Amino acid sequence: MKKIYLLASLSLLAQPLLAQRTLIHCGNLFDGVGNSFQPQMTVVVDGNKISAVEKGYSQPTGQDRVVDMKNKTVLPGLIDMHVHLENQTRRGGTIDEFTLNPADVAYRAGQYAKTTLLAGFTTVRDLGGTGVNVSLRNAINAGLVDGPRVLTVGKSIATTGGHADPTNGYRKNIMGDPGPEDGVINGPEDARKAVRQRYKDGSDLIKITATGGVLSNAKDGSGAQFTEEEVKAVVDAAKDYGFPVAAHAHGAEGMKRAIRAGVQTIEHGTLMDDEAIELFKKYGTYYVPTIIAGKTVADSARHFGYYPALVTPKALAVGPKLQATFAKAYKAGVKIAFGTDAGVFIHGYNAKEFEYMVEAGMPPLEALKSALMTNARLLGMDTQIGSIEKGKFADLIAVDENPAQNIKTLQAVRFVMKDGKVYKQ
Ligand SMILES: [Zn+2]
Repeated sequence: MKKIYLLASLSLLAQPLLAQRTLIHCGNLFDGVGNSFQPQMTVVVDGNKISAVEKGYSQPTGQDRVVDMKNKTVLPGLIDMHVHLENQTRRGGTIDEFTLNPADVAYRAGQYAKTTLLAGFTTVRDLGGTGVNVSLRNAINAGLVDGPRVLTVGKSIATTGGHADPTNGYRKNIMGDPGPEDGVINGPEDARKAVRQRYKDGSDLIKITATGGVLSNAKDGSGAQFTEEEVKAVVDAAKDYGFPVAAHAHGAEGMKRAIRAGVQTIEHGTLMDDEAIELFKKYGTYYVPTIIAGKTVADSARHFGYYPALVTPKALAVGPKLQATFAKAYKAGVKIAFGTDAGVFIHGYNAKEFEYMVEAGMPPLEALKSALMTNARLLGMDTQIGSIEKGKFADLIAVDENPAQNIKTLQAVRFVMKDGKVYKQ
């Protein structure tokens, strides 16, 4: 008797694990594949996957649950190729690296991840932190923290004194001499070791800082900081682990070296010249513009004391240029991947980037699609995310209006489902 009772209660416990279908009735559906919006559609979600996309409003059977999005436009979950989930800008925030323990960083990162997900970004590429981002990814995957699907570089790779050398601007006795383990390299040998260390740390891809950067406490914001040989060593070592390489670059020379050495994406690309544009096209390199980051750092720099003294002039010089660079690159036919640099601005405002892209001449649907299949392909996940198709992860969002008519509607996401689970409704 007792045994039977136990078996019965076990099967009851197991029941919620059985797939319950969710029927999402979409007033308007953009599947991310074509260019058209389809009225009155149903997306059927079974477990964490999309099991069917049907015309009309399909009726539920058995335990099916219905989500009514009849007055909304449903889209695939958005993908941001450039975020920093470990930090968020604030006046005088430089002090944080001396006062926050990894656990402090982790609690903040959990909050920023949730904010990002609720803004409609169901997958992000984290392009650099201290390594807490690897633990964050694992915690999200384990269902312990609400956040987007994360692919992370862990810690970026820099050269001594370069952008992302973690001890830039420290006083001498605490500056030390960080090496490949900390993501600082000098020469191809170090470059290989740094990549292998990232592999060991659990990174999903590699980021290098090919030129100076705006927010590092160092003088130069755009000069080349890697030799071409060093970038090549990074790219070669990364290939062994199936890691694409993302390269931060503001100045043209560092950008060109990185493109010729075979990186997958150039981040920011601020001072891109005609020769660089030709190289982008020749090598098929993607450009991740981060226009919103440029505008935000320039705005913040106008407030006295927001950034350290070395940073302010760089932010004022580099920031305002990004939108014009994007306009020029897009017109010239450079391939664009959507990315924002969230963290450099307040998390959750990522979709403002679409508005800036459209302002600079990109048609709204093309801007939207740069955050869907383009990014899915670059992440090597095009069979799993980026569109609403049978067999893909159930990552869906809904907005009030048709984004082809009003791109700003993406800044007010009303519904978020990731991996078949509803996070916002
Ligand atoms: Zn960044």
